[in-house]
Parts: sequence; structure tokens; C-alpha cells
Amino acid sequence: MEKSVKGLDLNIENDLLKIIFSVILLIIAHFVASDKIRVFVFIAAYVFAGLEVYKEAFEGIKNKDFFDENFLMIIASLGAMTIGQFEEAVSVMVFYSFGEYMEDKAVDSSRDSIKDLLDLKIDYVNVYANGSYEKKLPGQVNIGDKILINPGEKIALDGKIVKGDTTVDQKNLTGESIPIEKNVGDLLMSGSINLDGSIVVKVTKKYEDSTYSKIIELVENSDTGKSKTEKLVKRFAKIYTPVVTLTSVVVAFVMPFVFGGEFKDWIYKALVFLVASCPCAIVLSVPLCYYASISKASKEGILVKGGNYLDNFRFANHFVFDKTGTLTKGEFEIIDIISDDLENTKKYAYIAENRSNHPIAKAITNNFHYNFDNDKITDYKDIRGKGISLKYDNENILVGNHKLLDEYNISYDYSEDATDMFVVVDGKAIGKIVLGDTPKESSKYLIEILKSQNKKITMLTGDNKSASESIANQIGISDYRYSLLPQDKIKFIEDFKKSNDTVVFFGDGVNDAPSLKIADVGISMGAAGEDAAIESSDIVFLNDDMKNVLDLIKITKKLKKIVTQNFVFALSVKLLVLTLNLIGYSSMWAAVFADAGVALLCVLNAIRLMKD
Ligand code: ADP
Ligand code: MG
Repeated sequence: MEKSVKGLDLNIENDLLKIIFSVILLIIAHFVASDKIRVFVFIAAYVFAGLEVYKEAFEGIKNKDFFDENFLMIIASLGAMTIGQFEEAVSVMVFYSFGEYMEDKAVDSSRDSIKDLLDLKIDYVNVYANGSYEKKLPGQVNIGDKILINPGEKIALDGKIVKGDTTVDQKNLTGESIPIEKNVGDLLMSGSINLDGSIVVKVTKKYEDSTYSKIIELVENSDTGKSKTEKLVKRFAKIYTPVVTLTSVVVAFVMPFVFGGEFKDWIYKALVFLVASCPCAIVLSVPLCYYASISKASKEGILVKGGNYLDNFRFANHFVFDKTGTLTKGEFEIIDIISDDLENTKKYAYIAENRSNHPIAKAITNNFHYNFDNDKITDYKDIRGKGISLKYDNENILVGNHKLLDEYNISYDYSEDATDMFVVVDGKAIGKIVLGDTPKESSKYLIEILKSQNKKITMLTGDNKSASESIANQIGISDYRYSLLPQDKIKFIEDFKKSNDTVVFFGDGVNDAPSLKIADVGISMGAAGEDAAIESSDIVFLNDDMKNVLDLIKITKKLKKIVTQNFVFALSVKLLVLTLNLIGYSSMWAAVFADAGVALLCVLNAIRLMKD
């Protein structure tokens, strides 16, 4: 993979060299006294500038795409040469190739930064060795190793389940988002997400050969999720280019019979028409505008998975947030432990949370520590929005909120204050751990600004009333809904969408994954968020910084502005040159400017999106 990226770079630099050569030859041509030699120098310049264009046009023809911009450029330049306009022919090629070069370079650099971001998320694998699990890089795991995969984690390597059962989300691989049950003996594909059970898997393939590595390659090379504007431009060019070509043929070979005049003049007019009306300014610059914006976003720590999400985001009027880990830091403090059996409360909480990625789990495992036997854990289930159930040494353990206890009909002394977590052993509540979380600084700031822009704001959380109320008040959110299960969150988002809101949903947990998928734009927290959420989202905030919303607003506004500028500018220059051509002021130089010059300016304008 590395190699191919470097190979591409080399190619691009070669392209630039060819263009520079061509320009040097173009200058030398001016100092050549002999006409014959000058033509020879021009042709050499033409070959340097045009080689890539010919190659690409040939590729196009192989793919049955006859009328692409490359093809237009070739007809135009060849035509110009047949009527002796050598310098113009070379210039068309030089400008066009340079535009393509700039575009390639911009696309490449943004693709690289996106790739870097993706690689960040293949962090570690829990590998079994000498009685315990060690964290290793996926590349260090061997065939036959046993790995532990906890709920919410991405399955990093292909393998077979040897212990536990679970459901997995294979959407990345199959496009099918319905979770699939997996039991002992079933094969798992890397790249899918382990949803609710904790499982031990025997690895069957090295990381390099794994399905997941293949997917990363795919993401790098695909342009899925192209924006509507981009698709529109491609379709427009498909019709526009043949029409332009045909019209110029008519101008060259029919007009002389209708209006009289010299063939040579009409051919010249036709070529001016052909060159001036080539749509490459638009075709080149629109996709580039999206790439440049995505690349700019990535510099701010925002991973955008496709141009269309930028469009959707621009229309967003309803901002919906998960609470824990999204608006709050997700760094719970243990405020109190209420129990007559303190040691066992802490111990069982520790055993249960040791495999969870929930922010609450992190607080527990950071604060307590107990040695226990991993092999004694069976039937481990992460019940989203509620807590955890498992068997330890054949004792039934529950750790979670009042909803979990209600589900199992367990009585408890429940006074609602902060985020509560009960510990239940064999049907008896033995203690309660009270936890508290604080809002991110960036959340307060963001909500203030969104309010001033009259956006709708809603907080959806699985936590209880008092904890939610306290956080909502601190951040300044008046519309908050609490004690929600994942399916309740989905329901709210569907309702918002039905009332014609364009909804952006922000979340960090596995429980948010379905909501992230159905929102118009799903945004996940890349640092503390769980893999399932990150995979299901369209945009990832790699530093979990809510101020990134404001960056996105700025980026999408600027994107719209620059795409519009390019459209208006390109079309008006083209119309001007075409009108002049029609009324008798034909100039190949004007046409070259209207086409390649404008394309270049549009590309440069697009590159501005990468800057501040
Ligand atoms: P939010 O929607 O605010 O991000 P979640 O849906 O992740 O919250 O969780 C909702 C509630 O479910 C938590 O407040 C907690 O009471 C309970 N819960 C979820 N996971 C766990 C866990 N691993 N341990 C204990 N309680 C949990
Ligand atoms: Mg959350």
C-alpha cells in the first residue's frame, strides 16, 4: 500500500517535469530562426505536454468513455496544428496538463491525510499469552493466536470464535446493516464490529491478508459518497461534450457551404468554439473543491468520509447530541459508594466493567483494581443503555442502572441524584456507585453560538433525569430527553426528519451507532468514541472537540461560495469568448484562456479552500 502511494507521488512529479520541459521548449521556439526547426521544437513541446493527456484519453476510450475532456483537448490541439497554429496547440496542452497536475496534487495530499486518519484507528488487539491478555499491534498477531474482542470493538483480524457469543455488524463488508448472530465455531471477518458480547477468537489470517486491510485499500481508492454536485457535473459533461464536438464539426464543415468563406477560417472558428466551450474548468474544479474542503477539515482534526456529507451539513438546522462522552468529557468521577459490602461492590463492578468501553467502565477500572480470573467470566453481555450482565464463577452479576434492575425485577433503594450504578450479585443489590461527569468546555461555547444562529438543539441521553438536567443546565440546553434506550434515540431522530429538519446527530457509543446511521449527518467522537460509532458515522471529530462544528460550518460555507464563484466565472468567460467568436473576433488565445486559463484559475481558487 505504502509503495503504491509513493509510486503515485513520483508519477505526479514526473508530470510536472514534462510540463516544465514543454514550457522551456515553447520559449526556445521563439528564438529559433528556421521555420522548420521551430515546428519541430513545437512538436517536441507538444509531446511533452500532451503525453499524459493522450494516455488518459486512451484509457477513456478503453472504458467506452469517448467524449471526455482529454479527448476534446486532443481534437482541439490537433486541429490547431493542421491549420498551422502550433503555439496555440502546445499552450492548450500545457495549460490543461498543468490544471490536471494541480488537481492531482491536491487530491493526493488530501487522500494522504485521510489515510493517515484511518490508520489511527487500528490501535491494538488483546492477545492471550501465558494466562493473561496483552495489548499488541494487529500486525504483530500470528495465525493461531487467541484474541479477546470486547463489545463495541472493531474486529481487527479474521478468525473463528472459540468462546462466547455475540452479534456483529458487517455493514462495512456487506453493506447490510442488520446485526448477525455469531456463536462458537463461526467465522468472523475483520472490519466488522463486535456489538454486544465479549468473545475469544482464534486468528486465521495475518493482518496484511485480512479483510480489514483490504477494506482500507478500498476506501483509499474509491470515490464513494461523491457529492450530488460532483455527480451532476459528471453527467452534465457526458452530454455537453458530445454536443460541443458535434457543433464544432458542423461549424467547420457545414457552415462554409451555408455562409460561404474559406474553409480554413471556419475550421479556426470551430476550433475556437471547441476549446472555449470545453467544460474542464468546472469538471476539474468542482470535485477538487470537495477534496480541498475535506483536506482542510482533516487539518482541523475532522475526518469527512465523502463530499455529500458536506452538502448535507450545510443544510443542517437541527443539532442533536448524545450526552455522555459527546457533550460531556466522559470522564466520570466516583462521587460516592453506598454499600454495606464495599469490597464486593467495588470488586464486581471492576470485573464487569473490565471488558466494557463505556466511559463509566473507564472510571471504574481507573479507580479500582482487583486480580481476577478471566477464564471464569462467561455469558458476558453489554446491554446498551442499561449496563452489563455476566456470570463470574457461576454467580450472576449485574452492573448498571435502574432499567437493568427493573428488567430483572430486582428491588433496590433508589434515590435519583447523579449517574447511579448498581451492583447486583445473584439477584441481590449489594451496593450503589454514584458517578458524576462534567461538560466539555467546547460544548458550552458551541451551544451558545448555535443558539445565536437560531439552530434547533436537542440532547438525547440514556442517563437519568437528574444527571441529564444538571448537564443540560450547565451547557444551556433547554430541550433534553433522558432515560432513552438506543431505539428511543432513533425514534426521535426519525421524527425530527419527518418534520423536515435536516438532522446532524453527534454520538460516541455503540448505542449511538444506529442513530448516527439514520441522521442526515452522523458525527462521532474519534478519540474516546467506540469503533462501532466511528464506523457508522459520516464525519469523525478526531479530538472529540465540539468546536469542530464551527470549523465545519465555516468550511461548508466557503465551499459553497467557491463552487459558485467558479461556476459563474467560468461560464461568463466562456460565453464572452463564444459570443466574440460568433460575431467575428475569433482568437485561439482567448479560447485557450477561456478554457485552460479559466480552469487553472478555478483550480487555484479551489485550492484556497485548503488554506484558512
Ligand atoms: P448516553 O446516551 O448519555 O451516552 P448511554 O446510552 O451510553 O448514555 O448509557 C446510558 C446509561 O446506561 C448510563 O447512564 C448508565 O446508567 C447505563 N450504562 C451503560 N453502559 C454501562 C456500563 N458499562 N456500566 C454501567 N452502566 C452503564
Ligand atoms: Mg455516549
